[in-house]
Amino acid sequence: EDMDVETIWQNGEFTPWDEATVHVLTHGLHYGSGIFEGARAYDTDQGTGIFRWDDHLDRFYASAKPYDMDIGYDREELTEATLELLRREGLESAYIRPIAFFGYHSLGISPEDVPTEIAIAAWPWGSYLGDDALENGVKVMISSWRKHHSSQIPTNAKTTGLYVNSMLAGEEARRHGFVEAIVLNKDGDVAEGPGENLFLVRDGEIFTPALSESILDGITRDTVITLARERGYTVNENVSISRGELNTADELFFTGSAAEVTPIRQVNNVEIGNGSRGPVTEELQQAYFDLVEHRAGDHDEWFTDV
Ligand code: PMP
Repeated sequence: EDMDVETIWQNGEFTPWDEATVHVLTHGLHYGSGIFEGARAYDTDQGTGIFRWDDHLDRFYASAKPYDMDIGYDREELTEATLELLRREGLESAYIRPIAFFGYHSLGISPEDVPTEIAIAAWPWGSYLGDDALENGVKVMISSWRKHHSSQIPTNAKTTGLYVNSMLAGEEARRHGFVEAIVLNKDGDVAEGPGENLFLVRDGEIFTPALSESILDGITRDTVITLARERGYTVNENVSISRGELNTADELFFTGSAAEVTPIRQVNNVEIGNGSRGPVTEELQQAYFDLVEHRAGDHDEWFTDV
């Protein structure tokens, strides 16, 4: 796929796109021992700004911790590299993908003496689940694959190896004609999407699975909770949501840095609400885009200017 970008920042250097390669015996390739982030820069009213970059950096370093992985660059260095990359490429808006992984040294499972490699790429990326998705919502399938429990692997870390579960769930759904999956946790309650958190609206109140349900602590989840509370909604973020509650919801939607706020209009064979984007979803989606494009002019603290 041609992403129309010339450069990737890799191990401290700006490297031509085609030369940003790794050895085939890279530890992270064999064992999924990498951690990554996904953020977006938006073309805002005040120029290009990265949305909640500090929070993405926090989570990047936090994800490395359980693996005892030394990122090797501090926040200022990673921020400077990212800003310089966006400026060099003249990207007014972009998806930003920092990744760190155990590199090439030996292939024992122990990463002792294996160097950490790091890269940051950025490229233009439109709506994650398709142009129609934001307006009309997506059809999702409840995956037959359960999510790993947080006692099996830290689910609050964005570890590369975790995403084979996301791939299995998403591809199963797409083979059945759906756009995306909903993944249940080991108890059979709702966890999240393969790359999104999930929200439910019922009787004017908002619900989202608790962090203890083996989900990622999504930054968009936190943003949407904040926006909803600012608009007077009651948000219940410490609940578990049973599979059956999906069917009877008034509205459902996904959140994510890539997926932004995407309505869900059908789960398996069941239409949700009136089968299109619901009013609360629409209000919060509008609020989200007003915020990230900085039209709302508030939450300055959430922007890193390019
Ligand atoms: N859950 C999973 C499994 C994800 O990969 C993502 C995307 N990072 C999310 C939720 C949403 O998180 P965020 O809003 O921080 O992008």
